Amino acid sequence: MTDLPMPTVRASSSDDGSPVVPRADGPRPQDAARPDAPLVDRFGRPHHDLRISLTDRCSLRCTYCMPAEGVPWLARQTMLTTEEIVRVARVGVELGITEIRLTGGEPLLRVDVVDVVRRLTALTGPHGSPEVSLTTNALRLPALAAPLRDAGLSRVNISLDTLDRGKFIELTRRDKLVETLAGIAAADAAGLHPVKINAVAMRGVNDDEVVALTRFAVERGYQMRFIEQMPLDGGHTWDRTQMVTQAEILDRLTSAFTLTEVPGRGNAPAELWHVDGGPQTVGVIASVTAPFCSACDRLRLTADGQLRACLFAQDEVDVRAVVRDEALGDEAVADAYRRCLAGKKAGHGIGEPTFRQPDRPMSAIGG
Ligand code: SAM
Ligand code: SF4
Repeated sequence: MTDLPMPTVRASSSDDGSPVVPRADGPRPQDAARPDAPLVDRFGRPHHDLRISLTDRCSLRCTYCMPAEGVPWLARQTMLTTEEIVRVARVGVELGITEIRLTGGEPLLRVDVVDVVRRLTALTGPHGSPEVSLTTNALRLPALAAPLRDAGLSRVNISLDTLDRGKFIELTRRDKLVETLAGIAAADAAGLHPVKINAVAMRGVNDDEVVALTRFAVERGYQMRFIEQMPLDGGHTWDRTQMVTQAEILDRLTSAFTLTEVPGRGNAPAELWHVDGGPQTVGVIASVTAPFCSACDRLRLTADGQLRACLFAQDEVDVRAVVRDEALGDEAVADAYRRCLAGKKAGHGIGEPTFRQPDRPMSAIGG
């Protein structure tokens, strides 16, 4: 294994202003150089969550994610095979990954997605087998929800930005609202609980549906989560002044519901509130106005085999080259994880003068 430079232990500050300091009770950053060490970055953040993008292809064209035409698809030969994905994930699980989220693009477009789930849930590491979940647009769930559950999938996050057919077409550039709703119902029927519904809030598009979407979810026992739009669209048109903020979302919610904060957020990106006394909750993922970088425990693997420490990272570690080099063993894969972690920054830097949107759109990173 290549020796890594010993990480410097220093207090820093994430860009939400909260200090990023090594945790007294957790793994120490200096442990990161040990071959059997857990995945800890130079700010003392342990990493347990791996997001794996199974494809950059998608059946929708959401405006905040992909351009309408001319998507620069990843070349087929660069995409990781299932064998390669499972190997990279296995090494991650052995290093302490406990949660795997499959994403894309649209992960259910991968033909062997059920087999991928079955193989990932069978991995074991120091903390046992990982929990495997999936983020999807739901279009293939009527056919796949039950087989995915049987393969060990624990739950799903489903994107639904509007309940209005015209707006759905405008937003996703496809006429698929009915199919999306059928997919949500299929996940529920298959017991993939809790069903979480994600909506990216957009000014003048769906911000007037915050209450209706929450009602839709609460009535069915789902958890509604609103996401602040991030600068990750294929068209590079994001404008902070146009973004719907957490504060605005909460204003709309409190006009219709009584919200009580749910304590104990941990590493979760969503801040949660009980709706009208609970038990149902609504969440906001305020990645821009209230970043949670100081608690981030995520790493990402793109469909073409690049490890990324952050959605907004400019650097990637090419683990595809490692797994395709027959001279290299699992230690080199572990080293790729550590090199990726070594470059992880304290925060995403949106709003700082030096911030630059990543070249890859969200669909090619894996949300
Ligand atoms: N196709 C699947 C889906 O839509 O759920 C999985 C991939 S998608 C990239 C994952 C999540 O990223 C979705 O919840 C989507 O709403 C969110 N997303 C995409 N682009 C975004 C952006 N610019 N800002 C915030 N969230 C975004
Ligand atoms: Fe596809 Fe998901 Fe991106 Fe929408 S958000 S275009 S469904 S990858």
